Amino acid sequence: MATLLDGKALARQLQADMTTRVADLRAQHGRPPGLAVLMVGDHPASAAYVRNKERACDRVGIASFGKHLPAQISQAELTAIIHACNQDERIDGILVQLPLPAHLNAVALLHEIAPDKDADGLHPLNLGRLLREEPGLRSCTPAGVMRLLAAYDIALKGRQAVVIGRSILVGKPMAMMLLAADATVTVAHLYTRDLAILTRQADLIVTATGCPNLLGADAVQSGATVVDVGITRVENADGTSRLVGDVDFAAVEPVADWITPVPGGIGPMTVAMLLQNTLTSFCQRLGIKD
Ligand code: NAD
Repeated sequence: MATLLDGKALARQLQADMTTRVADLRAQHGRPPGLAVLMVGDHPASAAYVRNKERACDRVGIASFGKHLPAQISQAELTAIIHACNQDERIDGILVQLPLPAHLNAVALLHEIAPDKDADGLHPLNLGRLLREEPGLRSCTPAGVMRLLAAYDIALKGRQAVVIGRSILVGKPMAMMLLAADATVTVAHLYTRDLAILTRQADLIVTATGCPNLLGADAVQSGATVVDVGITRVENADGTSRLVGDVDFAAVEPVADWITPVPGGIGPMTVAMLLQNTLTSFCQRLGIKD
């Protein structure tokens, strides 16, 4: 039976460590680190994610400057709000909650966030720094995966890793981080033929597709590490709903050595990395050692 990679427990521990650090920084510098989460419209899943992030900020003492904006907001209005956050000295991290309504150009908006306040690590400058293996703010979800693997001493150097999904949010930065850790990385996606042939050779599989049951026991070699980033809400027969990942957990758990649960795996780690990025920005902006 695989051992659980318990992201929830690690995230709790990281948040406890950050609480002490934030209290010290606040006492020394007269203000806490601040995070602005900009949410547009009423997307129910996004609203839940934003609530989670704001609660986590409260727990560690980071000030949140969240803005819930109307779905009809224009590109120019949202750009002006981002510029105001860039100028606001109390704000160290800015996050635009995705997805945005179709009339807004998310990529153009992400370009407007000051790179040193880019809490989600999605500005081209920070993505370029990742590509060059230079220090910079890193995308929270793949950074959370790396932090979790490190906490359990999962070796990566020279290992075969398969990343399923090639989004700019998860798959691509994940592949870059694993490469930087000296893994041999294959990136699979919707048009990959014979996915199971690739994954069966992998020491590490990170899947981020949003396709429930994409990965079954026949696609995983014995002893592999399986990280499930996917989150999909599915209906139960009785009309209630639950969150599932991309992995058929019950089938893969007996085959793998290490596995992340959904929920309680990468979701909480993503939030912990967002707080960490806000803390890092605060320290960098004030010229303090992180
Ligand atoms: P996305 O839709 O932008 O990308 C999905 C990727 O999966 C694409 O690259 C696509 O090519 C690939 N894909 C889709 N179907 C596939 C298939 N059948 N076989 C192989 N590849 C396939 O999504 P995203 O933003 O990268 O998010 C992916 C998943 O991760 C979603 O379920 C999302 O909810 C979840 N997510 C979780 C967290 C977290 O904190 N745990 C954070 C971000 C995203």
